[in-house]
Amino acid sequence: MPKNQMILLKRRPTGMPCDEDFERSEQTTPELSEGEALVKTLYLSLDPYMRGIMDQKESYIPSVNLGEVMRGHVVGVVVQSRAATLDPGDHVHGMGGWQAYSVGPASTWRKIDTMLAPLPAWLGPLGLPGWTAHVGLMDLGSPKPGETVVVSSAAGAVGTVAGQLARIAGCRVVGIAGGSDKCRYVVDELGFHACVDYKAPDFDRALAAAVPSGIDINFENVGGSVLDTIWPLMNRHSRLVVSGLIAQYNQTAPCPGPDLTVLLRNRINIRGFIISEHLAQIPNAVQQVGRLLRDGQIKTREDIVDGLDKAPAAFIGMLNGRNFGKLMVRLAEGQ
Ligand code: NDP
Repeated sequence: MPKNQMILLKRRPTGMPCDEDFERSEQTTPELSEGEALVKTLYLSLDPYMRGIMDQKESYIPSVNLGEVMRGHVVGVVVQSRAATLDPGDHVHGMGGWQAYSVGPASTWRKIDTMLAPLPAWLGPLGLPGWTAHVGLMDLGSPKPGETVVVSSAAGAVGTVAGQLARIAGCRVVGIAGGSDKCRYVVDELGFHACVDYKAPDFDRALAAAVPSGIDINFENVGGSVLDTIWPLMNRHSRLVVSGLIAQYNQTAPCPGPDLTVLLRNRINIRGFIISEHLAQIPNAVQQVGRLLRDGQIKTREDIVDGLDKAPAAFIGMLNGRNFGKLMVRLAEGQ
């Protein structure tokens, strides 16, 4: 059996994680039992939720135990199989974790069709970010033509897909992103109607100017002071789809909440959701986003880092906004 390189959680971070919170390890992969498969990781997805599972807190996803392999979605190729459902050479998507190989029940892997889109797309628009964007915007936000949709972290993996879906649904789409390069990309490449830099000193004024008719749907990925600025611009009967609150993931003290009188006054419908409770909608999301990708109506961008060893630094970089596009680690060449 092949040698496995792994990255384990060594220590629980306080605030922003650092390299010393992770530990590199090497082990021989175990022999397969009946019903199991050995999968070689080709790409590992790095996602903001991973910050949460490094803590030992009550959450919707269980924490990683100290000494355990960091969890994460991967796309990989089946190397050996003792299950009727998987054959060597099949490309699969699943929770392989931060490691070069994984051994586990074949039933935990979903086969992917590399004819529909290349491997990295299955961690981006056709993976967790795309499912989240589609379910959150289309099923929970219910966009209607002419409405104004604001998407925060607009240049990111979820935000790019959510904003483009809103544009295709006939909405005026305003992105919020950090820095002029990301804002330019969101408008020039992705076709958002405007994008506002939340790091600029005139952010409040620029956002208000970009939404002259107010906001009908806020697809919220950030929270914190970005949400504080959005909040008073929400229209009556508007929808606030809370996808994530990345600005708050490294905070060590509670942050002040939004002004809830606006919620009461304008009967705003806030809807939190977790993609794992909408599994039945995923095939439709994959079909819809896959078609739009194939037709060139949705563009995406990948930020690929080579080598498992770089995963911790890349992950920490993402928490500091240094990724540009769907961040992933390439462990080996596929396809
Ligand atoms: P991104 O590709 O958007 O990468 C993260 C980005 O967040 C960074 O590039 C940075 O962009 C931005 N960011 C980081 N810190 C801050 C901050 N303090 N204030 C404002 N922006 C910040 O990641 P994803 O698209 O994968 O995830 C986006 C959101 O979606 C996250 O909140 C995540 O938790 C959530 N999510 C929710 C799911 C669900 O089931 N509800 C499933 C998957 C993701 P910038 O340079 O613009 O600051």
